[in-house]
Amino acid sequence: RRGVRNSFIPPVKSNASCFANPTARAYGKSDDGLDDSTRKCLEMLYGPDGELPENLRNLEPRLIEHVSNEIMDRDPNVRWVDIAGLEHAKKCVTEMVIWPLLRPDIFKGCRSPGRGLLLFGPPGTGKTMIGKAIAGEAKATFFYISASSLTSKWIGEGEKLVRALFGVAHCRQPAVIFVDEIDSLLSQRKSDGEHESSRRLKTQFLIEMEGFDSGGDQVLLIGATNRPQELDEAARRRLTKRLYIPLPSSEARAWIIRNLLEKDGLFKLSNEDMVTICRLTEGYSGSDMKNLVKDASMGPLRDALGHGIDITRLESKDMRPVTVQDFESALQEVRPSVSQDELGIYEEWNKQFGSLS
Ligand code: ADP
Repeated sequence: RRGVRNSFIPPVKSNASCFANPTARAYGKSDDGLDDSTRKCLEMLYGPDGELPENLRNLEPRLIEHVSNEIMDRDPNVRWVDIAGLEHAKKCVTEMVIWPLLRPDIFKGCRSPGRGLLLFGPPGTGKTMIGKAIAGEAKATFFYISASSLTSKWIGEGEKLVRALFGVAHCRQPAVIFVDEIDSLLSQRKSDGEHESSRRLKTQFLIEMEGFDSGGDQVLLIGATNRPQELDEAARRRLTKRLYIPLPSSEARAWIIRNLLEKDGLFKLSNEDMVTICRLTEGYSGSDMKNLVKDASMGPLRDALGHGIDITRLESKDMRPVTVQDFESALQEVRPSVSQDELGIYEEWNKQFGSLS
């Protein structure tokens, strides 16, 4: 029962009586046994007419609550300008995902977008950041879940949680569901070795994806993985666009250093210094760079304390700027986390299955 207009009404937070309708009222009774936060979260999901959306009616309230409180991120707080480099990925994603989410009326028929996007590449290169930026730029609700937590933490309940996740996302359109480590959920069937429960979980997940792919929903699924070669054919088929997110270029590494140091007013490096640091950080990921900058920025502090200044009296004017030598010492501590061999695997997979243009 969807009400007189017979079309889906996205729920809005409403102070009107959320429990006016008999289905909803079951949750609103003082003796319904629900705690306050569960009730609040169910209220949020009711439509303006007080009805709980149809696809949430058979779900357990505690799972809806978990999705709304733990998995849903109301303010992902990342924009394109926060992400260094990756121009190719940004361009593809803007066309394929953001425009369709902003203008569903134009992107229909021949232009109707795929609903599944795969971001693959080494760890720490900005895949999660891209997911959040998509949600931020397209003004969509962001849902983040790690697939390995579905298989480890939610043993036996993963299927129900997946239904709740897609159900709530359906109610909060436009929505972006980001599944980290998607390979652990959609890996190639290991016929005998695969546990019955993980097989069921995978089937449920594929069913949910199929469901929103065929409808007119504004829900996008983004899978991220460091092991694309583990994905099976069914997963590849559903994740129609597959973007390689490589290690940052020299310019992108420079941008990360400058951006992080400038935020703290610590940037005083010359162009020549930057060229040296970028040369020395070939093969570092974005997150390696972040760790490197953190370590290097400790140099001036250690120096000041070494000159006998008491930490409790230390002021920022007592510290010199971060230098290229600080970076050189930090490079001894922070090593690149991705090996050359691994890069070869990504590049090969990209040639075979990636979206190259
Ligand atoms: P992934 O999902 O690919 O493993 P993340 O998006 O979680 O990596 O990135 C981890 C951290 O590394 C980010 O929070 C950010 O500080 C830094 N980082 C990685 N890639 C970039 C990038 N391209 N631009 C800016 N920061 C980056």
